Amino acid sequence: MDKIIPFAHKLLQEVVDSNSVTVDMTCGNGFDTLFLAEISKKVYAFDIQDAAIENTLKKVRDFNNCEVIKDSHDNILNYIDEPVKGAIYNLGYLPTGDKSITTTSDVTISSLKKILQLLDIKGRIIVVCYPGCSSGLDESIKLGEFLSSLDQKRYSVITYRFINQINNPPFIYAIERDK
Ligand code: SAM
Repeated sequence: MDKIIPFAHKLLQEVVDSNSVTVDMTCGNGFDTLFLAEISKKVYAFDIQDAAIENTLKKVRDFNNCEVIKDSHDNILNYIDEPVKGAIYNLGYLPTGDKSITTTSDVTISSLKKILQLLDIKGRIIVVCYPGCSSGLDESIKLGEFLSSLDQKRYSVITYRFINQINNPPFIYAIERDK
């Protein structure tokens, strides 16, 4: 079975092509942005800290289809007004950076409501949650409550989770817009 990040990328690869607009909502060290740059027409990448923006710009320096934005993903509607085919959130903090700068459930949910307005039919949003620490656990529970409330006539929402691993490993929520 696929590990978490390869499975997240596979879910995006199934719907994204060279005509697609995609978004990395938490670009961090730029691994997901680089993946999206390789398969999309255009990638928007958000992060709130300088180190993340610098690391991401380095990763995608050979690509001309990336717009790396130093701002909260909650301000996404100030930057994007076109349909989005794929998006990824890799929640939590920058592994190599300041661990006090982390995603929070209220901002994450607020931004999800906004990117859902941009999501194309058959588009997907992948959210990688890290419930191994208390703030990440709280965020993953609140996100689950929010995503469970989405209208099943418009969206399909799944989880992908290893239930026999210790220490609350990361898991995925994936949302697809049906119509
Ligand atoms: N996707 C990244 C990669 O491939 O390396 C890893 C992302 S890291 C786990 C989480 C990132 O979320 C951090 O860099 C952090 O600064 C960022 N972040 C936290 N709150 C944010 C917000 N409101 N808007 C955008 N990014 C945010």
